[in-house]
Amino acid sequence: MTAAADPHREVLERVLVAVRGRLRRKQFDTWFARTTLLDLSAETLVLGVPNDFLAEWMNREYVTTVTAAAREAIGRPVAVRFQVDGAARRAPARAEPAAPQSSATAGGPALGPQPAASTPPGPAAGPSLFMPRAAPPPPPPYGRPTVIAALPGSDLPPIVLQPLYTFDQFVVGPSNQLAHAVARAVADRPGDGNNPLFLHGSVGLGKTHLLQAICAEALRRRPDLRVAYLSCEQFTNEYVSAVTRNATEAFRARFRNVDMLVVDDIHFLANKERTQEELFHTFNALHQQRKQLIFSSDAPPNDIPSLEERLVSRFRWGVVAPLAAPELETRMAILRRKAESVGLVVPDDVVAYVADVVRSNIRELEGAIASLRTRSTLEEAPVDLALAHTALEPLRRIEHAPLTLDRIATVVATHYGLKLADLRSLKRTKSVSLPRQIAMFLGREETGQSLVELGGFFGGRDHTTVLYAVDKVASRVVIDEAFRQTVDRLRDRIRQR
Ligand code: ADP
Ligand code: MG
Repeated sequence: MTAAADPHREVLERVLVAVRGRLRRKQFDTWFARTTLLDLSAETLVLGVPNDFLAEWMNREYVTTVTAAAREAIGRPVAVRFQVDGAARRAPARAEPAAPQSSATAGGPALGPQPAASTPPGPAAGPSLFMPRAAPPPPPPYGRPTVIAALPGSDLPPIVLQPLYTFDQFVVGPSNQLAHAVARAVADRPGDGNNPLFLHGSVGLGKTHLLQAICAEALRRRPDLRVAYLSCEQFTNEYVSAVTRNATEAFRARFRNVDMLVVDDIHFLANKERTQEELFHTFNALHQQRKQLIFSSDAPPNDIPSLEERLVSRFRWGVVAPLAAPELETRMAILRRKAESVGLVVPDDVVAYVADVVRSNIRELEGAIASLRTRSTLEEAPVDLALAHTALEPLRRIEHAPLTLDRIATVVATHYGLKLADLRSLKRTKSVSLPRQIAMFLGREETGQSLVELGGFFGGRDHTTVLYAVDKVASRVVIDEAFRQTVDRLRDRIRQR
């Protein structure tokens, strides 16, 4: 059967079915709904999209997927390319939300940079889009923190909570389901099982949000609950100041008599031996009285460097729940929720686009909404793909910048409490050489740089040394589950920028 005998449509359909099998439905619907087939030869498959922005985007993001799909659908390997389809460009635009005066213009939705010749400016082009207007962009959507004074007669620090950090505002998906469920249970019944609760995850994934939601809900149910909610740094400072004032007894009286002790970012305890010891005793005193303990950290207990073993084991007595990076659907749901909370109308295709660009953390999703909002106010234009494309340019550059060996080695070094210079040195002590081998392995995996380049980066080593390291780590991840988890976590951390 030759390509010529295949009606274009049928080939396109087969390819699209294979693509759909490889993507999530929403992703497929967003990016492939208007794909056409422009050309199929023995070696190439050229697909059409309506504009330059999409062509550039698809060529960068989806060529690999479509190449694999096309090979399956057509039965032979072809090089895939996306190109603007002039006919699709002229196709009628979808209805634009209330664009002033422009409803009668031809020329399709202005998605991204259009070649000047093909799209004459419509009558609504008006003054420069980037001219600042009189009205400044709206302030960020965060309200003032709510401060809940400690109970009368109590000397606990006041509890400072963000009004939006509640369970209501927390979007649940597979990445945070367990953490959310346990957090709810603890808020409903503090001290009743799930003790301690230990949440861990990278920055910006909702740890503080959940801790505050627990405090707010627990206090709503029982306003007389004695809650101490503080950052690890605050806890450390309080303790150090008590020691210097010779007031450790008072410190103990304060913190060993609460109903709920919540300490955020406990990984800052690394290397603080005396505070660790104090926390250990505080923990024991509270746990014995069935008082609720809640901690958060950027790593699971056994991965926090220089944390006393006895604390690690206490932290694992109750529930250890991860907060992972949200998957596509959750990111989309979060974007919708955040847009809604600031009263910004964001069409579905823009939601899908932003969720595709911003993958690593939720704070950045919020940042994206804030950028859309600012841009939309400045331009006095509704949010659409073109606006999103421009507004998110800086974020796109960060999220899609290639990973560097520097970054990879820094993450690995930090995890093992080493300096970057150690990994790049000629030191061969065990404490340095295993982390270095892991960094080489991840460097090879994540950057695809050659063994020679990797050897050069890691202290001018020979490529056979790198090969040995990469093989060694690759075989150990297969047989050693704990080791695999460590490597996976480092990989996640590297990818989260
Ligand atoms: P962390 O403490 O893990 O660094 P935060 O709790 O500060 O992260 O979360 C970062 C931002 O993302 C906050 O504004 C928070 O409200 C928001 N956020 C995190 N997870 C969610 C979620 N599941 N749903 C809605 N907003 C979230
Ligand atoms: Mg936090």
